[in-house]
Amino acid sequence: MLEKIARPEQIRRWDGDLPVRHRYTPGVAGDAFFTAFKERGVLLGSRCEHCSYTYVPARLFCERCFAELWADTEVGPGGELVSFTIVFRGIEGEPLDQPEMFGAVRLDGADAVLIHRVSEPGEEPLEIGERVEVVFKPETQRTGSILDIEGFQVVET
Ligand SMILES: [Zn+2]
Repeated sequence: MLEKIARPEQIRRWDGDLPVRHRYTPGVAGDAFFTAFKERGVLLGSRCEHCSYTYVPARLFCERCFAELWADTEVGPGGELVSFTIVFRGIEGEPLDQPEMFGAVRLDGADAVLIHRVSEPGEEPLEIGERVEVVFKPETQRTGSILDIEGFQVVET
């Protein structure tokens, strides 16, 4: 029997907590991606010649044609800010002390975008289309995590 709910407060629900934990494994291509910037300070993507499309982060197959790919294409460190947002709440919904900006950046040589923090641009407001550059943590502080990337900063042109 189908039940049509016209008002959201009519939805039946049970409040509670589920003690669920997860662990994300980066896989072969993801491991190459993380190792490349930890050890060499470069960003690796994967190029599908058949589709003329470069993914970033690197991956083992093309999502469009399923061709086998390799983590062998260096992209960035510069790129174009194609979108951004400002967040005022953390991942658990808590208010942040300071709002943070996150941007989608099409790195030079890539077709896909990489999403990460964008640092304060200074006096001028952030604009779509601006040139940005990836900022890594100092080499001695990198652990092979996406947080080895501090974010993107606007490049003066
Ligand atoms: Zn392809």
